Amino acid sequence: MDETLWQEIEPWMVNIRRQIHQFPELGLETPNTAKLVENILDQLGIRHNRLIGTGVVAHVGPQQGQAILLRADMDGLPITEQTDLPFRSQIPKRMHACGHDAHTAMLLGAAFYLSHIQNSLPHPVTLMFQPGEEGPGGALPMIEAGVLDNPRVTRAVMTHVDSELPWGTIGLCGGPAMASPNDFTITLRGQGGHGAHPDKTIDTIVAASAVVQGVQTLVSREQDPTEPLVVTFGTIHGGYRENVIADEVQLTGTIRILSPGVVEHVLERFAQFVEGIAHAYRVQAEVKTVRGYPPLVADPHFTREVDTVLRRELGSDAVVQLPRPSMGAEDFAYIAARVPATNLHVGVVGPEFVTGIHSPRFTLDERALVTGSKAYAAVALYL
Ligand SMILES: [Zn+2]
Ligand SMILES: [Zn+2]
Repeated sequence: MDETLWQEIEPWMVNIRRQIHQFPELGLETPNTAKLVENILDQLGIRHNRLIGTGVVAHVGPQQGQAILLRADMDGLPITEQTDLPFRSQIPKRMHACGHDAHTAMLLGAAFYLSHIQNSLPHPVTLMFQPGEEGPGGALPMIEAGVLDNPRVTRAVMTHVDSELPWGTIGLCGGPAMASPNDFTITLRGQGGHGAHPDKTIDTIVAASAVVQGVQTLVSREQDPTEPLVVTFGTIHGGYRENVIADEVQLTGTIRILSPGVVEHVLERFAQFVEGIAHAYRVQAEVKTVRGYPPLVADPHFTREVDTVLRRELGSDAVVQLPRPSMGAEDFAYIAARVPATNLHVGVVGPEFVTGIHSPRFTLDERALVTGSKAYAAVALYL
């Protein structure tokens, strides 16, 4: 790759990242970030259009052929930033604590590079800037609005900052790579009464404790022990005072599943477990589950091809094979379910590392940006 061009791109891209960082937007409401992206694409002479209101799609290279898609997300989190960076968030309860500002800047850096060498691009390149990754999801509506069509996308990559890898490295994980997060709410209804006379009541507190303990058997006895499954109760509410038996308890939590084939089965068995336990305690149970993003499965063959290209272009030491998947989630999973795809984990840890993503004190080493941007460009150029 042309190093002189990258020397020009690096400070330009860091500056863009800092602009985005100061004014985070949430969910699908990212109009100013989308506008900023469009202004930069205009300066670079790259054609673009809008999908789903705030999603931006741009095209570089030949118009015909099988396209490769490069994806960045643009949304922040409802967190008040607690860093003392000169370019920290200007808006309370909004922060780019998941590094999506860096993803957008890195993809614009790749757009800069690719627009300067358009004639050497072997295939069309689709640049996807999506809102809503942290919820309610922007990838699926953008697919439904045609982001994978015209030209037809046949491979895809995303980047995500990784606060467990040093800056200058890219981590890869082929196969099941990230989990499907499924939230649940359980309402248990019994019959309240005096704490001195439990036999005259139907106690929902005792039933709730049996449910919390009992459903863990789903993990230990029903799931293949080599396939990760997590059942976490996040909240439990119920009752009035010491000597009153609670007539209602509500529990909420999340079920994280790594294998795409078992999501339906696990959620069904979860509901059966809860209902069965509740029945034994004569309690009425209402179980609501909300299906989250599917598990992200990185195509193993495509991931190996990406590995080869990145080792050649960035140096062998720059690429790390990640030993295990993550139980975090990612809506890029919807794209990876349709075309061979992989996630480029961009290492962001430097000497001043404080803490990881989703923390109000999250920071990243900006020297990571050029590595991530080069990785996007290399994939577009050589795969
Ligand atoms: Zn996040
Ligand atoms: Zn994220």
